[in-house]
Amino acid sequence: MRNYGNRRVLVTGGAGFIGSHLCERLLARGHEVLCVDNFFTGTRGNIQHLLDDPAFEVLRHDITFPLYVEVDEVYNLACPASPVHYQFDPVQTTKTSVMGAINMLGLAKRLRVRILQASTSEVYGDPEVHPQHEGYWGRVNPIGPRACYDEGKRCAETLFFDYHRQHGLRIKVARIFNTYGPRMHPDDGRVVSNFIVQALRNKDITVYGDGGQTRSFCYVDDLVDGLVRLMEETPDDFTGPVNLGNPQELTIRELAERIIELTGSRSRIVHRPLPADDPRQRRPDIRLAREALGWQPTTPVEEGLQATIQYFDRLLAACG
Ligand code: NAD
Ligand code: UDP
Ligand code: UDP
Repeated sequence: MRNYGNRRVLVTGGAGFIGSHLCERLLARGHEVLCVDNFFTGTRGNIQHLLDDPAFEVLRHDITFPLYVEVDEVYNLACPASPVHYQFDPVQTTKTSVMGAINMLGLAKRLRVRILQASTSEVYGDPEVHPQHEGYWGRVNPIGPRACYDEGKRCAETLFFDYHRQHGLRIKVARIFNTYGPRMHPDDGRVVSNFIVQALRNKDITVYGDGGQTRSFCYVDDLVDGLVRLMEETPDDFTGPVNLGNPQELTIRELAERIIELTGSRSRIVHRPLPADDPRQRRPDIRLAREALGWQPTTPVEEGLQATIQYFDRLLAACG
């Protein structure tokens, strides 16, 4: 990627799983980074290694409240992403997506700077179109337990496009599909972290439902590469939404089997009830990302899982 020059970049949710990798990447590219986080699901540990860098600054702040800072670019990632966390305080989840978007858009409007939204494949809900392309409007239950997240993110997209049309704001909307890698929260209930922690402890692997539902898992380094390309490499009139994810689709049962194999675990697979509104299948159509960003994931799933397993192995050893 060409060098984009030194910029002061705001990353909301910068102490979270994806945000911390993004902060790291932006610093490595020579930018200054202002990480804004309320530490709901993010941790100091995720950004500890960046704190000595004079180009890195952290601000504890909840983006549902206005924020006045001076920056050249905004990545809006703040929002809990795992069902366990976003359903803990669903009203706050919707506020974070909606009021957070309004505040960050207001900031980008005042400063006339580019702003990127971390949207999600959940805007497609439980899809009847497969694989999902950006033109598909989705099938979301507006009153179910996942709605605070899905509808919050859909409304945030609406706000981004209205600020673009009404105020000429330069927006970039990324629809991120399931992402995994080091610094996932061990207790956040997501499938990759759950299975790896269970496998490393030789505990039962909890497959919800029959395990025939599918997801497509993208390694975090690939995802961050896509986000930076979208922000830095696309012309002003390229707004997205653009899918960022790995088109390689796995059933949840296959994922469990691969993790057992890679960890050499003695764990058995057990079945638990499928949560309400759990999407049956999910795979991104990434033709647009390939064309507009020259992007596609390059990390094979075995390699990404190995790196993630090593991370959790060290984490569990440190926790005793
Ligand atoms: P995460 O929970 O690890 O990170 C979210 C961060 O936002 C945390 O550091 C949290 O403390 C912070 N935060 C939450 N509410 C906030 C608020 N009101 N004010 C300030 N900070 C707040 O999740 P993640 O997996 O890193 O996800 C990052 C973004 O990417 C989210 O917007 C998420 O919706 C999106 N996304 C993630 C995935 C995935 O598979 N991980 C998939 C699709 C979309
Ligand atoms: N805002 C902010 N930081 C800024 C500028 C605005 O947090 O640097 C907030 C502001 O509090 C407002 C929101 O963003 O509630 C939307 O701003 P906008 O200018 O679009 O709307 P208005 O201020 O006219 O309501
Ligand atoms: N899942 C599972 N066992 C677990 C955690 C999750 O079988 O211990 C399933 C879950 O029901 C879903 C898939 O794995 O079908 C992905 O779940 P996750 O919460 O990681 O992401 P999302 O549902 O938001 O895509």
